[in-house]
Amino acid sequence: MLKIILIIFGPIGSGKGTQAEMLAQKTNWKKISTGDLFRQELKLKSNLGKQAKKYMSVGQLVPDDLTKKIVVKHVKLNYRKSGFIFDGYPRNKKQLDDLLEFFKYYFKESLIYALEVAVRDKESRHRIGGRLSCSCGAVYHIDYNPPKKDKICDICKRKLFIRFDDKPKAISQRLNIYHNQVEPLFNYWRKRNRLIKIDGEQPIAKIHKDIIIKLRKLNLIK
Ligand code: AMP
Repeated sequence: MLKIILIIFGPIGSGKGTQAEMLAQKTNWKKISTGDLFRQELKLKSNLGKQAKKYMSVGQLVPDDLTKKIVVKHVKLNYRKSGFIFDGYPRNKKQLDDLLEFFKYYFKESLIYALEVAVRDKESRHRIGGRLSCSCGAVYHIDYNPPKKDKICDICKRKLFIRFDDKPKAISQRLNIYHNQVEPLFNYWRKRNRLIKIDGEQPIAKIHKDIIIKLRKLNLIK
């Protein structure tokens, strides 16, 4: 069966994770978010989680072999799905090569598209710099979505915190990685005319609508 593989790119704070989730619900494709998978491992305090934390806490990439392991595991677990949405993977040339090789080997027929949710650095910094998280999973923003009571979660009433990789130094590091390692990957899809660009500085629902329109035009969804 022909698999559709959509790789969503966007800097931190672009909302690509939200868009990946909305699209996964609409299409029933499997969303694979490496950031979420690592955070799950961290919560479980697994060996992998402990190893990943060393890199995540300073905004660096987790080594490629560890990242590949977690991706392969979750693709294999969902091999029957008609499509996959990758959020946060690949992030460098080695990871792109690993992914292409994996799909060539396991799924002989696949159509791989990339979707860029474009957001300027200034906007990324503003969105992430104001983010407050709760250990229950809720996420707030001091301007766009403030909690009712200062720094207290509306849902579970616990104290909100700034995620360790949302601190200013880690934000700069993550933006640098995006520009220097991730953006050059776009060339792979640009050459093949398979790069879809979406304006990420719009309301969430409008971004989702734009994505759906583009995917329909390409006959990737009904
Ligand atoms: P994210 O939520 O996608 O911004 O990911 C959070 C952190 O997880 C990143 O800053 C990296 O430390 C790690 N991470 C996520 N995806 C990858 C990846 N593809 N390769 C290496 N590290 C990753």
